[in-house]
Amino acid sequence: MPELVVIGGGVVGISCALALQAERFDVTVIEPGPVGEGASWASCGCIAVGEIVPLSQPGMLAKVPGLLMHPKAPLTLRPSSALRLTPWFARFVANARPLKMRAIAADLARLTFLATADFKAQLADIGRSELLVERPVIKLFDGDDDRANMAAAFDLARELGCSIEEVSGGDAHDIDPAIAPDFKYAALLRDWSFVTEPKRLVEALHEAFLNRGGTVISGSAVGFDRNGRQITAVKLQDGRTIAADEFVLAAGTRSRDLAAELGVPLQIEGVIGYSTALKNSGVDLSHTVFYAKGGFGITPYDGALAVAGTIEFAGAEALPNWNRADILVEKARRVLPGLQTGSAERRFGRRPLTPDTRPIIGRSGRLANVTFATGHGQLGLTLGSTTARLVADEIANRQSPIDIQAFSPDRFSG
Ligand SMILES: Cc1cc2nc3c(=O)[nH]c(=O)nc-3n(C[C@H](O)[C@H](O)[C@H](O)COP(=O)(O)OP(=O)(O)OC[C@H]3O[C@@H](n4cnc5c(N)ncnc54)[C@H](O)[C@@H]3O)c2cc1C
Repeated sequence: MPELVVIGGGVVGISCALALQAERFDVTVIEPGPVGEGASWASCGCIAVGEIVPLSQPGMLAKVPGLLMHPKAPLTLRPSSALRLTPWFARFVANARPLKMRAIAADLARLTFLATADFKAQLADIGRSELLVERPVIKLFDGDDDRANMAAAFDLARELGCSIEEVSGGDAHDIDPAIAPDFKYAALLRDWSFVTEPKRLVEALHEAFLNRGGTVISGSAVGFDRNGRQITAVKLQDGRTIAADEFVLAAGTRSRDLAAELGVPLQIEGVIGYSTALKNSGVDLSHTVFYAKGGFGITPYDGALAVAGTIEFAGAEALPNWNRADILVEKARRVLPGLQTGSAERRFGRRPLTPDTRPIIGRSGRLANVTFATGHGQLGLTLGSTTARLVADEIANRQSPIDIQAFSPDRFSG
């Protein structure tokens, strides 16, 4: 049986590992951390079909001084990281032009429209369909300004085929009475769904992988052995060398440094987000809700409510600023008036974001046997199973359901 190594056992890596087992590879995953505690650990848990309008939007450059000055705002740039982030940020801002945004949104639409079917097939395959809750996600707006800020993004998403139903705040309260009754507007994102707990999802995928004969090695990849365009082995920090015929690079924000070792320049930064899981919250919420002004979502996990979100450009190495997590919990009371916050577990994650918001999926022309599966930014949970399918198609030399050229790792070269 040909041997294949997946570097990184987060939601994207483990999804690829399972898909490649099905292609009859003998698969080994290399993962240094506890299972399920990559970026997805802190996620809102949404299968965010139609979350396609890039973060970088017109007017972004003018906002930079504000981002630097307001460390508590939903979107911020950490001053201590600003200098180091400048080259990446400049590319990010360069994508904030209407034509570029439209092209990015169209590419992300093609991908995310595959996500629900792929995710359901993946869950059915491992016998864990109960992990998905198929209910629309509700977005809440305090007033006309918040609604107006969203209008262009909604129009573009609708034009590209997304289902967004605008209702009143009162309707949102009727649909889910835990929500405060006094929001002015709400939107039902009908294509979206959510998982009951992202960590449990990643654990379930790992368990299925191991039950099917997969191997997980606890360790950190630091380099490679190669013979021309062919990689022959991955080197671990502890000195071990793992040989294989094929390699998949899915190490989240760390993929950038490992790709540099391979001679493939990737542009990925870690965009920090926070989540607090509240047990005994005293609230019976049955939908994921997003509070537009607060920049966060609240998802009903099994036995807890997760308050998660915000965007902090701080870099791949930055440590968490837990104040930001605490602020979210305070603001969550605006959304759920009955919320109690006694028992709280704080988490944070670094979303691996590219300046053009597109993930990195596929082979590089520079290497014969390495496939990239990284850079998913805000959409790793949504796109894990779809990315796995596309990676399996690429390695098996099969026609994939969509053209993946726009996601090529080589787009950053030159
Ligand atoms: C607050 C927040 C909310 C979010 N909400 C959503 C959401 O609702 N929906 C959604 O789709 N996405 C969401 N995301 C984004 C999502 O969590 C990420 O896109 C996703 O987790 C990325 O998956 P990944 O497997 O690429 O990276 P990770 O989950 O980070 O996994 C990478 C893995 O690689 C391992 N690794 C690192 N270095 C090495 C090395 N040297 N060798 C081997 N392994 C290594 C790490 O330990 C890690 O386990 C959210 C993120 C945050 C922070």
